[in-house]
Amino acid sequence: MTMLIFERSGQGRRLSLLPETPVDVEQYIPGECLRRQDLDLPQLSENDISRHYTELAKRSHGVNDGFYPLGSCTMKYNPKLNEEMAASAGFCDIHPLQPLDTVQGCLQVMADAQKYLAEITGMDAVSLQPGAGAHGEFTGLLLIKAYLRSLGQDGRTKIIVPDSAHGTNPASAAMAGFSVINVPSDPQGDVDLAALKEAVGEDTAALMLTNPNTLGRFDKNILQITQIVHAAGGLCYYDGANLNAVVGLVRPGDMGFDVVHLNLHKTFSTPHGGGGPGSGPVGCKSFLAPFLPGPLAAEEPGGSYGWHLPVQCIGAVKAFYGNFLVAVKALSYILTLGADGLAAAATQAVLNANYLMKQLSGSYDMACDGLCMHEFVMSLEKLKQETGVSAMDVAKAILDCHMYPPTMYFPLIVHEALMVEPTETESKETLDQAAQAYLEIYRRAFSDPESLHNAPCGTVIGRVDEVGAARNPRLKYGD
Ligand SMILES: *Cc1c(COP(=O)(O)O)cnc(C)c1O
Repeated sequence: MTMLIFERSGQGRRLSLLPETPVDVEQYIPGECLRRQDLDLPQLSENDISRHYTELAKRSHGVNDGFYPLGSCTMKYNPKLNEEMAASAGFCDIHPLQPLDTVQGCLQVMADAQKYLAEITGMDAVSLQPGAGAHGEFTGLLLIKAYLRSLGQDGRTKIIVPDSAHGTNPASAAMAGFSVINVPSDPQGDVDLAALKEAVGEDTAALMLTNPNTLGRFDKNILQITQIVHAAGGLCYYDGANLNAVVGLVRPGDMGFDVVHLNLHKTFSTPHGGGGPGSGPVGCKSFLAPFLPGPLAAEEPGGSYGWHLPVQCIGAVKAFYGNFLVAVKALSYILTLGADGLAAAATQAVLNANYLMKQLSGSYDMACDGLCMHEFVMSLEKLKQETGVSAMDVAKAILDCHMYPPTMYFPLIVHEALMVEPTETESKETLDQAAQAYLEIYRRAFSDPESLHNAPCGTVIGRVDEVGAARNPRLKYGD
């Protein structure tokens, strides 16, 4: 049993000795605000701390441990070179309020990142300020709102969202003060055009869409879709979370989209899940650019760099200029791969997904027919009817194969869904091992279903009682 760091504590143990402060704190801080008793911190040697965190890390599974095909999340391996770039002293040891002539290089990094991300998405301007994908969605919708208001079209209050959308889409729309209209998918998993035509009208503010969608399908009607929305006077918002499948190959701007967010922590070399801050830059066509949140980094006529605040700026959505070091990693990734390299990464991601899907499709049912893009969705509905083994059971059994499970029960339109995104950074050997593991579990579903209900058996913690945890939560340690 792992101990809490407080339980490892021993009176007087130290990591290093800090000198007494030479500052007379009482001079600066009012007496009633000063702490009178020592802070109750664990007291540990360096050895204790190192072992504590190593032990915790061993109980977890990350991209550095093995296959991590969490669909819609793009859990790929990110080159450590880009981390090294972001750790450079010139990027780290700076302050947002420093005089601009001392941070010209950093401003140039931001201006270049804005420029390349605009080029990659087919947009005219980019703000790096939003801190994540959902934050970018919210920001993009505020741009749309400000633009419609400037035209006196406040009556456009509805956002159209397909039923395959990520949950953040309707949530962001609601937070930005819009109401949401759901449009169904057709049997192939694409947007139902007839239903879309029915849904658009004088109250349409925008359509929010990700392409490829969360079923891993590229909607071939995309030009028609954006045209239908534009013809009704609405705008088109592109959720860029699935850009890994198409980066360098096609551009949302060319598909007819007006606004887009990117998840730098999915597509552009920042790890996520406890890996530090993310970033959700927003790009838009020129008619929306005056509303972008700022400041934006900009090259000035003399060749130096400065800040620029768009004239009808919706305000700041985050302090200063967003998570700068994530932009450093993105730029480093873009420049090391180049245009051809980015396209090759996307192509490989699609190939890997199809390679694995093909191996599994003789046994598992796929949610849609034909080729997939960067991810595919299986439906275990029939398997569950025949054997009692659910998507949850399969996902838990995968943990015993030293792999991370796929995304479970998403998208919501597929029953007993498992969504697999291998990413471009996995080798053929890893994909073959994954295929073997899934096929072996499939066979066990018929021969020994009971063992799957109890999986995982080889992990530090076995099957947790999720219902119990929700109904009778123990929120305090030691209860
Ligand atoms: C991850 C994801 C989001 C939300 O992005 P965050 O960075 O997690 O806020 C939105 N849409 C889709 C399709 C996603 O996969």
